[in-house]
Amino acid sequence: MLLTRTPNEKNWFAVQDDSEMRNGFIHVDDYRWMTNAPSEVISVHYVLKGIYNTLLAEKGVPWMHMIHDQPRGCLFDFCPDKRELNFKLRTADLCGDCLHVIQSAGIPDALLQQTVAIMEESRRLAINTGQFIEQKESFLEWPFPVAVTRHKVVQATNPLLRFMLLLDHFDCLVRFTFIAHEIENGRIPEIEPRPSLGWWVGKLRQAVGDETLFKRVLKITEREKVVNIRNERRGHGWMSANEESYRSEAEELQKTIDHIEGELRPIIENQRLLIPRKMEPTESCWEMEGDNLIGSHLLHPPFRIEAQSDPRSIGITKMNEIYLTDRKMESFQKISPFLSSNICPECQHQRILLTDGGQQYIDVFMGHRVKMSID
Ligand SMILES: [Zn+2]
Ligand SMILES: [Zn+2]
Repeated sequence: MLLTRTPNEKNWFAVQDDSEMRNGFIHVDDYRWMTNAPSEVISVHYVLKGIYNTLLAEKGVPWMHMIHDQPRGCLFDFCPDKRELNFKLRTADLCGDCLHVIQSAGIPDALLQQTVAIMEESRRLAINTGQFIEQKESFLEWPFPVAVTRHKVVQATNPLLRFMLLLDHFDCLVRFTFIAHEIENGRIPEIEPRPSLGWWVGKLRQAVGDETLFKRVLKITEREKVVNIRNERRGHGWMSANEESYRSEAEELQKTIDHIEGELRPIIENQRLLIPRKMEPTESCWEMEGDNLIGSHLLHPPFRIEAQSDPRSIGITKMNEIYLTDRKMESFQKISPFLSSNICPECQHQRILLTDGGQQYIDVFMGHRVKMSID
């Protein structure tokens, strides 16, 4: 599929080669006169349409007959008048007739799911009210421990509580980053019992050496004196009884942490934590499924992967342990027992527990500090 700025004689958005449907072009232009959607969104729309035309053609379905001359707000609207494209981008839908043809042709549901997700994202950019849509929370794709501590901050309206939760979140970011960094580098983190925030920051500094990204994070931490703030306001001494007095401090700390998160984002968003629950060989490969500890929701979304070889060869040696991997999910490193899924002795629920050194753990969702032995 060629994306070209060169116009075509019939002034079409996109054309495919009848004899080889996998060849075609899309005319990329500035279409601001007819839609709010940026031209990339229009290209995406036609790539998507092209995929369907091709798959249907390859299954012998006369897709040309599906095209609607009268717009219905369907992917298969013809749109001879270019302004009609804006209409179908804003409906971002498939009509019942087309959906029926597509499903009867045996196009997999997974592809339809992806299509709907892409159309929905495009729709948000095409509608007039797009700017008023609430932004998705950034932590939806973060590993559970840091996503959950971040989510708790978002929900806190009381300034004192917010301030405390920001400190917990910062602690979790540093702790998790250090542990994951050690595991990724094939080292076993050594952690003293109930370490202080200063200890974690010091350990992270030692571990990362000259890696620029982490150095920037540590620089911000130092410049903004996050550890001192924690020790002065929370660790030692008296707490102010006046909650309002924490409002400006919470705001300042929030800014610092936003900045740190911004630096860490490329790493955090690439990390995945998986708990394999079931694995079985199929005819040609291995199938594995379990929980994906992504985002802050307590019901972790499922994952399912197909491994070409024995899961032990990609690092998975035991079920029900937590493994660290990246988005590609090709190789795995066991992060348990530093992070584990177990019954919290305090609340008696299945929780994700993060090490606090020795046999001490923190239930990251509830904030319980508990003692238990995990092998
Ligand atoms: Zn239709
Ligand atoms: Zn608990």
